Amino acid sequence: MARGEKMFKETPSTFRYYLRLLEEKGELRREKKEVNVKYEISAIHMKTQAERGPAILFENVKGYNIPVLVNVLSTRKRLAIALGLPENADYDTINNGIAKRIKERISPEVISSGPCKEVILNESELDLRKYPIPIMHEKDAGPYITGGFIVAKDPETGEQNLSYHRLLLKGRNRLGILMEPRHLWHIYKKADERGEPLNIAVVIGYHPVVGIAAATGLPLGENEYALAGALAKEPIQLVKAETSDLLVPADAEIVLEGVILPKEREIEGPYGEYTGYYGVPGMRPIVEIRKITQRKDPIYYTITARSAEMGYYFIAKTVGTFEKIKAAVPTFKRASFLQTFFFVISLKKEREGDGRRAILAALAANDSIKVCVAVDEDIDPRNPEEVLWAIATRCNPSKGIFIIPDVFGQSLDPSSEGEGPGRVWSILCIDATKPITRPFPEKAKIPSLEEIQRMKEQGLL
Ligand code: MN
Repeated sequence: MARGEKMFKETPSTFRYYLRLLEEKGELRREKKEVNVKYEISAIHMKTQAERGPAILFENVKGYNIPVLVNVLSTRKRLAIALGLPENADYDTINNGIAKRIKERISPEVISSGPCKEVILNESELDLRKYPIPIMHEKDAGPYITGGFIVAKDPETGEQNLSYHRLLLKGRNRLGILMEPRHLWHIYKKADERGEPLNIAVVIGYHPVVGIAAATGLPLGENEYALAGALAKEPIQLVKAETSDLLVPADAEIVLEGVILPKEREIEGPYGEYTGYYGVPGMRPIVEIRKITQRKDPIYYTITARSAEMGYYFIAKTVGTFEKIKAAVPTFKRASFLQTFFFVISLKKEREGDGRRAILAALAANDSIKVCVAVDEDIDPRNPEEVLWAIATRCNPSKGIFIIPDVFGQSLDPSSEGEGPGRVWSILCIDATKPITRPFPEKAKIPSLEEIQRMKEQGLL
């Protein structure tokens, strides 16, 4: 090893460190009972998540000798642990912590080698079918790799990008890929037009901060690993891939190195998506895997679509949205996704139009919002009852509702129309804040039993 080159160290931002912490705190269960990759893993995952149960390591997967890990990040407590915050930190503490950290990016550290290189499988010896890739929903086209993020480099700018894409197992070294028209699609388009294969690396098994950074959707060209470093408050250790100069986390469990082929298209889909619907099949590009590097004892990590985990991976994107709203409306209180694509903002209204201003800021910052509601500060944006009551009683539809037609949004939303880059959705905006330009009735209130008791003691009752 050359002088000055750094060795791999197991630090708090490494995956195995995080898994050990979870296990010590009773947040990781080792499942010894045999499970099937077909439906059973996703079924147990969704049930456990609904019960707010622990992460599960399936150690006995029928027909495979690699364990499967699910549910690593699906509670606020496990998110707090991942960020090194007190386990019982509430949402505001976590959100404020993230907002502060993301302002100061920490560049990754490129080291000479790491655990992800313990085993190297060449093109002739690798076989994707040996990995316990789950089949999650009844009508899925086959096993889907969902917990892997993809590393690619823009051939023109040389800038690296991380992003999540579902990958359909098609054969020993072949995967189908769905690229919505975002960063990777933009990068691939350039290679495809030149008729050149695009080098990629699929990273499976990484610390949650790296997954959060990959899901954030930073402006193209900004380094997602530096965002992960910021969240972890230490540099992420990276190593160079074997078949390209792409950088991957040194401690990754499994790295699939390969290319997205130019010009070739095959049928991909359906897959039960995060929207709760099957994403429709279509003719899509093909990934050819040319090398696999992994740990001696790799863990296969998978994400079930629509699991709470996905929401947590988007936490930095959501917190970034809060910051943009706060810049537009200083009296912003809090905001939350009440449902997929359904975003609610609460604010202390000081100026007429504050509700609309907050909505516009949220829409500019976040492309996952299709219904955007503004409510007053006395309404909890996480409480559907209160939000519906505010819409029902504070919004005058002829003034408070506006629709923004034909915006690029989430192409997996079934209500979107059009194909590929031509696919758009419309956005429903509801300003359910009380007007400040005319008197508005006060909320009716029955005194609490404690207040009644006090009144009695004071002889008022
Ligand atoms: Mn990106």
